[in-house]
Amino acid sequence: MTQVCVPVCEKSLDAFENASARACEFADIVELRLDCLAAVEDWQRWQQVLDRISRPVILTFRPAEQGGYRELDHDARESFWKTAPRTDWWDVESDLAPDADWSRVIISHHDFSGVPDNLEQIYERLAASPARVVKIAVQANDVLDCIPVLQLLDRARAEGRDLIAIAMGNAGIATRVLGPSRGAFLTYAALEDASATAPGQITAQKLRSVYHVDKIDRETMVCGLVGRPVMHSVSPHMHNAAFVSAAINGVYLPLEVRDVKTFFRRMVHPRTREIDLNLRGLSITAPHKSAVLECLDWIEPEAEDIGAVNTVVVDDDKLRGFNTDAAGFIEPLLALTGSLAGSRVAVIGAGGAARAALWALRRQQANVTLFARDAAKARAVGQLFDVSYKPLPSASFAEYDVVVNATPVGSGELIDQTPATAQQLAGARYVYDLVYNPIETRLLKEAGEVECKTLRGLEMLVAQAKIQFQLWTGQAPSASLMYDSAAAALGQ
Ligand code: NAP
Repeated sequence: MTQVCVPVCEKSLDAFENASARACEFADIVELRLDCLAAVEDWQRWQQVLDRISRPVILTFRPAEQGGYRELDHDARESFWKTAPRTDWWDVESDLAPDADWSRVIISHHDFSGVPDNLEQIYERLAASPARVVKIAVQANDVLDCIPVLQLLDRARAEGRDLIAIAMGNAGIATRVLGPSRGAFLTYAALEDASATAPGQITAQKLRSVYHVDKIDRETMVCGLVGRPVMHSVSPHMHNAAFVSAAINGVYLPLEVRDVKTFFRRMVHPRTREIDLNLRGLSITAPHKSAVLECLDWIEPEAEDIGAVNTVVVDDDKLRGFNTDAAGFIEPLLALTGSLAGSRVAVIGAGGAARAALWALRRQQANVTLFARDAAKARAVGQLFDVSYKPLPSASFAEYDVVVNATPVGSGELIDQTPATAQQLAGARYVYDLVYNPIETRLLKEAGEVECKTLRGLEMLVAQAKIQFQLWTGQAPSASLMYDSAAAALGQ
């Protein structure tokens, strides 16, 4: 059974009481991090708080060097455990040996610098103690760091030892979501984003309502988003909602990957991987869409032409690569315009999204012009797809049927900017912004001012995700469900 533990770390006893009550909504176990308090006093009052917590409690008093919030020497910790109340569990660092009921002790080791080379020996040392549960938390600096942690869970399961093994940090999220299905005694999750007590801890609400951690088992088909960064992505919201709605036993995770080739060799390719996650499919995003081509056994011709793969299917012992960006780009545009044959289309930008758009537009016999700030790059891309190039500064789009923004202008740090003003857009019929966060960009607002019809980037995101889902599962997901899940995740 999956157990989600929510740590509570507050500065006063009253705040502990409030937060514990809220934690009980999502948690199976509540961990009270008493090292968050300046001083632990009045155990009688604490007992009243403990009595009101409706879930089993783990008591923790961790020193700073093990990830705690206070400098605590050995004596301070020893005397803490001498007077601490008996709770369901005590989490005690491995250098202590308190007078305890060891069937209720979690013996723990933390490493915030990385995965130690002697991870197995640390496990063996802790497993030799009388403590009922062993806990090892290490820092994942790369998704590959999940391998030894998941392997340790497999070993403990085979040996019948209760183990909590976590790779902290964004790159370790797979251990938090998949750990319970591989036998982890529990997984930790934060009460709120801001209250995470370890790096990479996601909220309990998200773990349950987005990743459906309680439903994951060894049969669960695993899919994921490979890129860096990936934690901001709304793709897990879309795909996980689609899995639930289609009653498919699947989960979709963000996988923060530095080196795509090593990742594919050690974690993905069925002939070389060191761990079997039951992977079925991957979305590939920046900066790996081109580098991934070398890692595959077969690539569809369209993706070869575009020079980018954004979707991988794991088929028995083979990896197949696809590009769903091109089809995802053109589908909503065709739905709006009917046809693009002979239409004059301006594409702004000369990066990956622009390449997929240019390929798709050329297939529709559109008459395309590329606008970009870097002339050399634009000329090279223009030549590849046989389209003309014009410089972006001071461009006028009055003569174009469709204007496409394939730059990040309008999102992130450039959220207040637009690649074209209302004045520049006046006369164009349609404006299509591939930026999807925010959903309503400044470009779309400028376009609305001069009565251009507009198309949002979220339409493309959903259209390409729909095709990915179909490639992995053989089933067509609901586009409106995906759209609503993504829009809700974007808070819009
Ligand atoms: P990319 O490969 O990094 O290319 C970005 C392009 O934008 C480059 O040509 C870059 O020019 C240009 N650019 C960047 N900042 C600019 C600025 N301030 N002014 C003018 N041009 C600028 O990125 P990408 O993967 O193509 O993505 C582009 C946008 O499309 C992103 O916002 C992404 O989220 C979005 N997108 C959406 C979907 C979807 O499904 N809706 C799919 C893919 C991408 P330089 O080369 O000169 O730097």
